[in-house]
Amino acid sequence: MFNSIFRKLLVTYLIIIITIIAGISYMMSSFYSAYVFGEKEQTLRTAGTKVEDLIKDFYQKKTTKSELEASINAMGYVTDSRIYVLKIDEKSLADPEKLGLSDELMEGYLIQDMKEILQGRVVFRKNQYTQAFDTVMVFLGMPLQIQSKTEGVILIFSPVSQISANIAKINLRIWMGAAAAVIISAAAIYANSSRISRPIKVMDVAAKKIASGEDTEDIHIPSEDEVGQLAETFNYMKNKLTATERMRREFIANVSHDLKTPLTSIKGFAEGLLDGVIEPNEYEKYFKVIYDETDRLMKLTNDLLQLSKIESGSLKLIKEHVKIRDMMEDIIYSISGEYHGKEVSFGVHCLSDITVYGDRDRLKQIFINVVHNAIKYSRERVSIDIYARQIDGGVEIRIKDNGIGIEREQLEKIFEKFYRIEKSRHADYGGTGLGLSIVKNLVELHGGKIYAISEVNRGTEIIIEMPS
Ligand code: ADP
Repeated sequence: MFNSIFRKLLVTYLIIIITIIAGISYMMSSFYSAYVFGEKEQTLRTAGTKVEDLIKDFYQKKTTKSELEASINAMGYVTDSRIYVLKIDEKSLADPEKLGLSDELMEGYLIQDMKEILQGRVVFRKNQYTQAFDTVMVFLGMPLQIQSKTEGVILIFSPVSQISANIAKINLRIWMGAAAAVIISAAAIYANSSRISRPIKVMDVAAKKIASGEDTEDIHIPSEDEVGQLAETFNYMKNKLTATERMRREFIANVSHDLKTPLTSIKGFAEGLLDGVIEPNEYEKYFKVIYDETDRLMKLTNDLLQLSKIESGSLKLIKEHVKIRDMMEDIIYSISGEYHGKEVSFGVHCLSDITVYGDRDRLKQIFINVVHNAIKYSRERVSIDIYARQIDGGVEIRIKDNGIGIEREQLEKIFEKFYRIEKSRHADYGGTGLGLSIVKNLVELHGGKIYAISEVNRGTEIIIEMPS
C-alpha cells in the first residue's frame, strides 16, 4: 500500500488533516457544551439567590405566604424549572418521609446531596436522571441561609432536554463543517500529491528509456521548486549522456578508420614485396612507405594513450616556474630540422623574466604542437611570431602564423578530438586530429584556457592563458 510516493503523501497528509480537524471539532463541541451548562448553572444560582431573598422578605413579614408562593412559581416558570424550598436540618434527613417530598423524588442522589447542602455547599448536577420527572434533569441545590444560619435547602430542577437539543444542533453543524473541511482538504491533498509524484513518474519512465538505449525528449515541468530543478538536472544529465554516447561512437569510428588506413597500405606494400611484384630497385621506396605508415600508427597510439591518461586524471603535473622566452628559444632550436623544405622565420616578442607556473615537459609539448601546426598549415614562406605578456592572474602567450587560416565556423571545432579541416586536403601532413585536443586538455589541466582567432589565407593566432 505504501509503495508509491503518491500513496505515501496522500495517506500521511490525510491522517494529519483528519486528526487536526477531528481534534478541533471535538474541542469546539466540548467547549460549547461546557459553556451552555455553565450558563444554565449561573441562571439557576441567580434564581436560587432570588428565592432566598423572597423568603427573607417573607420572614420579615414584608410579603404574605401566598405572595411568596406566587413569586417562587413565577421564578420557576421564567427559568423553566421546578423550585422546592425545604426548611429542614440534618436530623430531619433521618426521616425523609416527613420532608413532604414525593417518594420518587427522595430516591437516589437527593438525600446525599441535601446533607452536603446543609453543610453549606452548593451542589450542581448537569445530566442527572431523576425518577420523579422520569427524565434527565439539571439540578442545583443550595443552602437557605437566613441571618447567616442554614435554615434549610433550596432545590431547583430543570429539564435538560432543551439544552441537549441546542447542543446537538450545534454539534451537528460542527461535525458537518468538519466533514466538509475533510472532503475539501482531501481533494486538495489528492491534487497536490499527484502534482508532486507525477513528474517523478515521468522521470522514471524517461530514465528507463535511456537505460534501454532509446532516445527521449526533454522533460518539461512548469515549476521552479525542487522537483522542477530535479527535472532540469535530469535533462542536463540526459543530454550529457547522449552527447557522451555520440562522442564514444564517433571516437570508435575515427580510431578504427585511422588505424585501418595505414594498416591497409602496410599490408598492401608488404604483399607486393612478398609476391615479387615490386622490382628490387624499388624496395627502398616501399620500405620507406611502410616505415612512414608505421610511424603514423605509433603517433596515433601515443596520442590516444596520452589523451586517455589525461582524461582519466592519471597524468600528474610536476609544476615549477618556467621562463617562457628561454623555452621558446629551445623549441625553435630543437625543431629546426623539421621544416620539410619550408622557409621558416621566428620572432619572439617576450621579456626574459616572464614565467609560467607549470610542468616543464607538458608546457614544451603544448608549444611544440602549436608551432608544428603553424608550420604545417602554412605555405612555403612561414613567418611565426610569438608574444608573451603578463595579464591579470597569469600570462598570455600568442602564437601567430601567416598560414592558410581557419574559417570562423570551424574555429571552436579544431580543439575537438579527431577534428581535421577537410581531412583529405591535409592527409599528407600526417596529422591525427588529436594534437589540439591534447593541447587543450593539458592547458586546462594547468588551470589555463586556449582559443583561436583566424582569417582565411592571412593566418591563425592561437592564444593560451596560463597561471604564472
Ligand atoms: P592535426 O593532427 O590534424 O594537426 P590538430 O588537432 O593539431 O590535428 O589540428 C586540428 C585541425 O585544425 C588541423 O587538421 C587543421 O585543419 C587545423 N589547424 C590547426 N592549427 C592550424 C593553423 N595554425 N592554421 C590552420 N589550421 C590549423
